[in-house]
Amino acid sequence: MDDHPELPDELRCIYCGEGGPFSDEHVFPAGLGGDDACLLIDLVCAECNTKRFSPLEESFMRSSPIAFPRVFLQERGRGKGKKASIPTIHANSKTLVDPQSNLGVEVEVRTGGVPVVLLQILFSNTGIRLAGRDQTGFQSFYDSLENAFVDSLQVVEKIGKGKAARFKVTTFVWNGGTYIQGEETVVPKAPANGIWQISFPEDDSASCPRLFQRLEGQLQLRVRDTDNVGSLLGLARKSLPGARQTAAVDTPVSGTSLHVSLEIDFASYARVVAKIGVNLVTHELGDAMIRDSAFEDLKKAILTGQPDLQLEPQVQSNRYQPIFASVPPRFHAMALAAHPIGNGRCVLVFMLKLYGGPIHTIALSRSAPLPETELPVFFTVEYNDRRMERFSGRAFCDTFPPVF
Ligand SMILES: [Zn+2]
Repeated sequence: MDDHPELPDELRCIYCGEGGPFSDEHVFPAGLGGDDACLLIDLVCAECNTKRFSPLEESFMRSSPIAFPRVFLQERGRGKGKKASIPTIHANSKTLVDPQSNLGVEVEVRTGGVPVVLLQILFSNTGIRLAGRDQTGFQSFYDSLENAFVDSLQVVEKIGKGKAARFKVTTFVWNGGTYIQGEETVVPKAPANGIWQISFPEDDSASCPRLFQRLEGQLQLRVRDTDNVGSLLGLARKSLPGARQTAAVDTPVSGTSLHVSLEIDFASYARVVAKIGVNLVTHELGDAMIRDSAFEDLKKAILTGQPDLQLEPQVQSNRYQPIFASVPPRFHAMALAAHPIGNGRCVLVFMLKLYGGPIHTIALSRSAPLPETELPVFFTVEYNDRRMERFSGRAFCDTFPPVF
């Protein structure tokens, strides 16, 4: 629908095509440390900016995998002074508290200080929630759980320390609806199979029980003294078929009274990455470029979530790792690259590395007009200083030498 057919392109919002009113749009989201001096002015309408992008970015920052490095590494969010969101971390238990849901989730910190959110089922008061680092990971997590949820499973608890350590092995038997606690033995050597039971640190009384998978594959159940281990395992087993099918937030699981929700909002992730890419194209290559029909589907997907946006597979993106390898994690790094396909057209690719994490790559268009500007072009955002800097390919390599 076009209310003003006579309106020239340059007076329209680059995203929705409406005629304004406009509001200043950060090229790089302010909440992720974007530069306040780097704005798209009179190009994005207030409707897109506030009604569509603000909640999208909010969800990205709080409920996507980026929420965790963000609270770890960024000194403050968009708010200032007392209003700024301060992250909280439980150092002992290696859990990170998501300020939104107030749930502590299990993380492991890898070299470089980047926390990895472990794949986990959280048994919260409001139902079962899932948290984890990526969507493909969940399928292998479910596979591991399915293998572990045999009809007679063993829960292993370490008692004592060092040479005096023994292992309490408790058998739990599936009765069709839940796990019933059975025989209990203490053995000197831990069995190869089984789910490990651990407790919370003493200073942590608020967290809910959870079943998670360590990076090396071990399944662990972290419980309080008052929790019923058999019934938690039963809940987890019953929720599995539903959890596998669940791609949306708050979808009821059939056959049980549970609700499964994905703690992490993957849909918003690709949309926000794409939006940053579109803003950067506009900023770098001009608004005429982004108004080209080659970007129509992409912009529609950013605005509405349809069609579904896909980042390039991670293995593909990892090939660019050497280029960004020496960029310190205090910077976000971005690149725009064009692969010519003939007839003056190109595949326009956007790369984004946030908080020293993995590189995300998305093809913004597979038939964009070949830009006159020399590509690739690189940008860094020093998020604690809110400073964005542009680099030619050569200057970027001189500043951050690639590591092959
Ligand atoms: Zn708009």
